[in-house]
Amino acid sequence: MSTSLLYHAFGIVGYICQSTRYMAGAVIVAISDDRWKLRCPVCRSREVTCRGKQVRRFRAVPIGRKAVYIDLPVQRVECSKCQVVRQVKVRFADEKKRYTRAFTRLVLDLSRYRPARRWRGILGWAGIW
Ligand SMILES: [Zn+2]
Repeated sequence: MSTSLLYHAFGIVGYICQSTRYMAGAVIVAISDDRWKLRCPVCRSREVTCRGKQVRRFRAVPIGRKAVYIDLPVQRVECSKCQVVRQVKVRFADEKKRYTRAFTRLVLDLSRYRPARRWRGILGWAGIW
């Protein structure tokens, strides 16, 4: 999957597509952050040192009836200015959420036109709200 498709289909900008897998009727896209764009999540300083990664999985808008998941190793950084060690911000999802902003918009659009019990099955999603 190309980086351009990440942007146009899923609203994910500034990440690099590493691989695409197909498992159990779902599409899993592995992406990575550009190491040179890392910033401190608190003060936005670029003077950071990498301190490990943790892979997080995000639900993205489906392709047809297939669920799409985005796997991103989220970098932990230590800031030399404010001395905190935190994960960098994920630019395509809100904090502490496991779905992309594009997926949120899709769900909100669908909820305007159909009752939730109808489209939850189509998305293969139990819902969070
Ligand atoms: Zn900082």
